[in-house]
Amino acid sequence: MKPSAFAYARPRALEEAFALLDKHGDDARLLAGGQSLLASLNMRLAAPAILVDIGAIPGLDGIAVKGGTLTIGARATHRAIERSAAVAQHAPLLAQAAPHIAHVAIRNAGTLGGSLAMADPAAEWPACCVALQATIVAASRKGERRIAAAEFFKDLYTTGLGAGELITAVEIPCAQKDERHAFLELVRRRGDYAIVGLAARALVKGKAFSGLRLVYLGVGVKPVTAAGAMAALEGKSADEAAIRAAQGALERDLSPSADLYTSAAAKGHMARVLLARAAAALAA
Ligand SMILES: Cc1cc2nc3c(=O)[nH]c(=O)nc-3n(C[C@H](O)[C@H](O)[C@H](O)COP(=O)(O)OP(=O)(O)OC[C@H]3O[C@@H](n4cnc5c(N)ncnc54)[C@H](O)[C@@H]3O)c2cc1C
Repeated sequence: MKPSAFAYARPRALEEAFALLDKHGDDARLLAGGQSLLASLNMRLAAPAILVDIGAIPGLDGIAVKGGTLTIGARATHRAIERSAAVAQHAPLLAQAAPHIAHVAIRNAGTLGGSLAMADPAAEWPACCVALQATIVAASRKGERRIAAAEFFKDLYTTGLGAGELITAVEIPCAQKDERHAFLELVRRRGDYAIVGLAARALVKGKAFSGLRLVYLGVGVKPVTAAGAMAALEGKSADEAAIRAAQGALERDLSPSADLYTSAAAKGHMARVLLARAAAALAA
């Protein structure tokens, strides 16, 4: 199929983009890498009257470190994040997760902001941002707003972005000295969306975990923080008893739904397997 007819605008400044969003309201859609949007236009799942291409707006694709915060522009591509030395040093979880996103051709075009705005429950970046306690920077003609990643994802493909707002950047606290990360996922074929995935982060002193963050993808309508499993492992090491207790708690944290290929029970099992693997990886 082909998309229905649409107008196209390529603003050169944020203010121009805001004006277009204000003028066209729900009839306008932002275009970033186009890796999700163009498919939905072609399938006529979306039929906006105008596409507002943010590709020519300066200052949206940088990756910079300042005052203990790593800031990644919304238009930074998955590939730029994957290859960034600053990301590898200050947010290693993102560097680990990036190669799991689709294939290189898609990672060359797809962007961080596009992925967060899509809020696909099986996507890597939303879970990583929640695990790293990132802040999403949203801007509109009214000004700038900072939203904690944990509050940003509201429901299936639904975010806290308001009318006329776009994501400009993501702010991530730089990794501390004893911080460790593990990103794991199970897929049918390399490059597919995850069946189940886990973004994990912890401080490891001696052998004990603290400040553990375990955030799952693919098991709910949005990233799911496994609070019970996190509490069960807090202050513990990755020994068998602690992992078994955390896996028990996980059964209360998650209530995965079946999808076309995988039953809810199988997803629950995979989540428990990933928990054990992540704990071992964090401790290693
Ligand atoms: C075959 C295939 C496999 C894929 N596999 C994976 C995968 O395994 N994991 C994964 O995470 N993703 C996967 N993707 C999706 C890919 O990561 C997309 O790049 C991403 O979801 C959207 O980013 P984009 O920049 O292409 O956004 P676009 O497609 O341009 O836009 C997507 C949506 O976000 C909105 N938007 C874009 N930028 C902004 C912004 N700055 N502020 C507010 N709204 C904005 C758009 O209006 C649109 O609604 C896959 C895509 C394809 C085609």
